[in-house]
Amino acid sequence: MTNQERIEKINKWQNAGVVHPLTCGVSSCRSILVAKELSNDIVLICPAIGCGYVQTFIPDVVLHADIDSIIASSICLKENKSQ
Ligand SMILES: [Zn+2]
Repeated sequence: MTNQERIEKINKWQNAGVVHPLTCGVSSCRSILVAKELSNDIVLICPAIGCGYVQTFIPDVVLHADIDSIIASSICLKENKSQ
């Protein structure tokens, strides 16, 4: 997987709305982290001004989950509930 593909996977996860996004490790912050390429690796950076939290660990599930299927099945669940 290229770094660009990994960033796209992470962005999809962060914006899916049906899974818990990766958030800042500072308990008073908890902003949704943003994927960035740094020194040919991917890191997750907190976008909050003045926070500066950087996470190098990216859970495997974020990179390998079939997020499109998760989104599709969650839409099915919502439709079933409203009937
Ligand atoms: Zn933060």
